[in-house]
Amino acid sequence: MSAISGEQAHRIRVVLLDADGVMTDGGLYVSADEERVTEGRRFHVHDGLGIHMLRRADLVVAIVSGKVSAPVRRRAEALGIMEVHQVSPFGKLEAVDDILRRVGATWDEAAFLADDLADLPVLREVGLPAAVANAVPEVKEAADWVGDVCGGAGAVREFSEALLRGRAEWDALVEGYVAECYEHWRSAKSD
Ligand SMILES: [Mg+2]
Repeated sequence: MSAISGEQAHRIRVVLLDADGVMTDGGLYVSADEERVTEGRRFHVHDGLGIHMLRRADLVVAIVSGKVSAPVRRRAEALGIMEVHQVSPFGKLEAVDDILRRVGATWDEAAFLADDLADLPVLREVGLPAAVANAVPEVKEAADWVGDVCGGAGAVREFSEALLRGRAEWDALVEGYVAECYEHWRSAKSD
């Protein structure tokens, strides 16, 4: 896993995630019959705890997608991600502007994990542009950090860990998580 410098990692307050090709492998599962079209996505379970750790570190996590997808919205809900922006590919800059304004953060305080050309404008503006391992060449070129893991295979987890390790917070967050599990166990036994 390549490292993120302490200086860059400490500046970040908002983590922006693309959905298709970053949280998923980019596959679109579409089944259709006369009555309805059912759309599916495949997510990686490891990403969930990565996002959980980002939020434990008081970072804002937001999804900025160029597609409207019910499965992405449901996955975001399950992960407790409040900021879900499903816009057109041309609407990503505006969506991020909106998120940053409401959170009170600057572009320089945002990271974006991306995979495809629709992400380029936002990547060029944020303080920490990042790419999954199988991002297109233009996106990798624009990124300061390129992961070893492909979209949908735990790429969000890899990036989360790298960012939190850059802030020297990862080990303490893991221990805090484990301690909370023990706390839960103890209080269940004393009930
Ligand atoms: Mg994408």
